[in-house]
Amino acid sequence: MQRNPTKGTAFRRGEAGFEQAVLGTSFTARDPGRRPGIVVQVNDVDEVIAAVLQAGRDGLRIGMCSGGHSWAQNHIREGGMMLDLSRLNAIEINAARMTAVVGPGCLGGDFNLALVNHKLFFPMAHAYTVGIGGFLLQGGFGWNSPQLGVGCQNVFGIDVVLADGTLVHASETENADLFWSARGAGPGFFGVVVRFHLKLHARPKFMGMKMQVFRIKHLEQVMKWADGVGPTVARNVEFQMVMNPKAAIINAHGIEVIAPVFADSWKEAREHVDFITNSPVRSLASVTLPLLPMSLNFMMKAGEKTLFLSNTRWSADNMWMDGPIDPVLPGLQRIAETQPPHPSHVLWLNWNAPPKRPDMAFSVEHRTYLALYCGLGQGVDEAKHANWATEHMRSLEPWSRGIQLADENLGKRPARFVTDANMARLDQARAKYDPQGRFHPWMGRLPAQST
Ligand SMILES: Cc1cc2nc3c(=O)[nH]c(=O)nc-3n(C[C@H](O)[C@H](O)[C@H](O)COP(=O)(O)OP(=O)(O)OC[C@H]3O[C@@H](n4cnc5c(N)ncnc54)[C@H](O)[C@@H]3O)c2cc1C
Repeated sequence: MQRNPTKGTAFRRGEAGFEQAVLGTSFTARDPGRRPGIVVQVNDVDEVIAAVLQAGRDGLRIGMCSGGHSWAQNHIREGGMMLDLSRLNAIEINAARMTAVVGPGCLGGDFNLALVNHKLFFPMAHAYTVGIGGFLLQGGFGWNSPQLGVGCQNVFGIDVVLADGTLVHASETENADLFWSARGAGPGFFGVVVRFHLKLHARPKFMGMKMQVFRIKHLEQVMKWADGVGPTVARNVEFQMVMNPKAAIINAHGIEVIAPVFADSWKEAREHVDFITNSPVRSLASVTLPLLPMSLNFMMKAGEKTLFLSNTRWSADNMWMDGPIDPVLPGLQRIAETQPPHPSHVLWLNWNAPPKRPDMAFSVEHRTYLALYCGLGQGVDEAKHANWATEHMRSLEPWSRGIQLADENLGKRPARFVTDANMARLDQARAKYDPQGRFHPWMGRLPAQST
């Protein structure tokens, strides 16, 4: 280990502390087998600049890590420099202007707590420990995003250290192509974002959740109902189905209907989730809970205590769907029949992409979203389940309209994640801002999208 106040703390491959400095960044406990040549844990922007310049001198490619929640461990690459940005986690809130400046290493849950006293809100990721950095760059399906837009829509500026070590600001009017790219390039962004300038929202007066649980044998009826009713669900309700081997309350393989809701009052919230209480499949449900008020902090932590467990070897894959559910149902049945043990789970999310978003790299989204999360605890055979998510998503490719970078698996299954036109623009911007390829690109691309 080498402590140098202008360069951060560096660990070279083979040195004491190196393995922990690499693997300790990752939410998933899987070992990707890859290792950088050096990890630099930076403490401030000057140290970021020094590290980027050093990488240039040494001819090293750079991989970046903010919260380390990339399922694919995109931040851990073979060779080069890994820049650990987790210590850049400052939060400055301007309540009067309803804006914030936040470091990339800030955790979504910490940001939420900082906003509570100001009665302000930001659509941050659903789990407490997700880093703002990777979340905002890839798009960001956050709390109340159907109403407030994806996370990156709420970014109005970024401060970025470029490949040549210069620190620049980017917004709609300054380095606009860099700003455009940062809102959707995700794990292929070609600069180090050291600060995000964010637009905040008034905190909803009511936040809570409606829940209903079915046994897995009702999969077909429940999914058909959900798919049919989805487009009519109010935008302040995050309507989703979770296939869980240990579903809440029944503690057996089941489908949890989960509907967080954000509203001005309990009454309004109840009206917006009544479609669950009164659904045509309600008599099949094992449990229907009333709408319960909950703090966002509670909901963020509950997700990590029940589903997104740490010390678990995770892998994930996903797809957007647009068509009717019927042809996908046999595939969903197979997914359920082969589902690895808890905490592995399947998310079907009612998305209903709005007709228009701002012009930004994020550009592929459709009516519904399907994601498979394979989470293997101690003692569970990895060889048996490791490709579960990849293989099922591959078999459903005829119905896929692309993927979301949040749950990307590009290294194992390249797929389309922005429109072809936007990919061409991203390539142009990368060639301009990172001509020597200092920053690692995405781990995999479709042949048509290859550079
Ligand atoms: C438990 C859990 C819950 C999740 N919930 C949600 C959710 O609700 N909504 C959602 O949309 N996604 C969700 N995700 C996905 C998550 O948003 C992405 O994996 C995101 O990339 C994580 O950000 P991070 O900073 O923690 O990850 P990291 O692994 O640190 O970053 C991922 C990649 O982003 C790039 N990157 C990160 N920081 C920077 C930076 N400062 N400058 C330049 N590039 C950078 C790097 O290429 C890096 O490899 C979840 C993931 C997990 C594990």
